[in-house]
Amino acid sequence: MMGKRIHNFNAGPAALPLPVLEEIREEFVDYKGSGMSITEVSHRSKWFDDVINEAGERVRRLLNIGDDFKVLFIQGGASLQFCMIPMNLALVGKPVCYINTGTWSTKAIKEAEIQGKDVRVIASSEEKDFSYIPTDFQVTEEASYLHFTSNNTIKGTQWEAFPKVDGVPLICDMSSDILSRPFEVAPFGLIYAGAQKNIGPSGTAMVIIREDMAERVPKDLPTMLKYTTFMEKNSMFNTPSCFTIYTISLVLKWLEETIGGLEEMARINQSKAQILYDFIDQSDFYRGTAAQGSRSLMNVTFRLPTEDLESKFVADAAKVDLGGLKGHRSVGGCRASIYNATGIDSVHALVEFMTEFKKREG
Ligand SMILES: *Cc1c(COP(=O)(O)O)cnc(C)c1O
Repeated sequence: MMGKRIHNFNAGPAALPLPVLEEIREEFVDYKGSGMSITEVSHRSKWFDDVINEAGERVRRLLNIGDDFKVLFIQGGASLQFCMIPMNLALVGKPVCYINTGTWSTKAIKEAEIQGKDVRVIASSEEKDFSYIPTDFQVTEEASYLHFTSNNTIKGTQWEAFPKVDGVPLICDMSSDILSRPFEVAPFGLIYAGAQKNIGPSGTAMVIIREDMAERVPKDLPTMLKYTTFMEKNSMFNTPSCFTIYTISLVLKWLEETIGGLEEMARINQSKAQILYDFIDQSDFYRGTAAQGSRSLMNVTFRLPTEDLESKFVADAAKVDLGGLKGHRSVGGCRASIYNATGIDSVHALVEFMTEFKKREG
């Protein structure tokens, strides 16, 4: 028995692939003959051990990650990573560099400042309301790391190519575009992502850390705030977010086996975004807010002529099962989040509605 499914443009928590939801339903009550659901078995059991190991192995294959990296699952979301990164990885007497491209970068910077680190914001797009990705910056040579946000969920901007820096490890918040496209992992010291945008339900961050980063972790940090604790205990010093990790493993299986890997996923994401941006560009009613060349393939942000029309647009869309189109409360406007799990059929349905709405209200 199947209820209705809407076209889901939520920014996070966000859409999950329908085959994943169906697989969860299928095996939920009796997981692999255990007579228990995956939320009822011990995290020390073979059942869950297989789940967490499979999730890690699939991420490694999808991103072609080398043996010198570990894949971790840490509760507290991306927001706890804002704090753990400077706490664990800032080197004594060396500055930490940040690029500020919006709300999430700003929050990451604040957490480093709270801890009294020598924070250098080496580039920012704040003067133009974070509508673009800065390309002109100089990284301090002796920096501990360079932190940036690959996709700015709220402003709808995204790095097309990542910064290239010699000798300074990159650290990236990839919460809203991880596994949306292939990229080279080697220049990164650490990559993190709250799961609830592109890879699963809320409840954990996925952290990919280069092993040599462990040498930086101060010995006197609380146990649960040290990366080394998670590295040494396969993310299970304490009880991890079992259901979230289980769902992530199914999403990764879907990416590998149904989609066919990240090259193919990137191609699909590219065409979904293209359809929307092309439509917005030829319109004199809808107006994109991100600069050309910095536009996000994941979060398409746009405005209508008035705020009243924007409210009506969001409300009328919901009536025809197009959900989640309201912009972030901090910026207003409209936003269509088109993560991996949002199909091209949903994008077509949205464009059809936008056409009809403009005809009616424009
Ligand atoms: C949503 C989001 C966050 C916050 O994630 P939490 O898991 O809720 O802490 C951080 N960074 C980016 C880019 C996001 O999109």
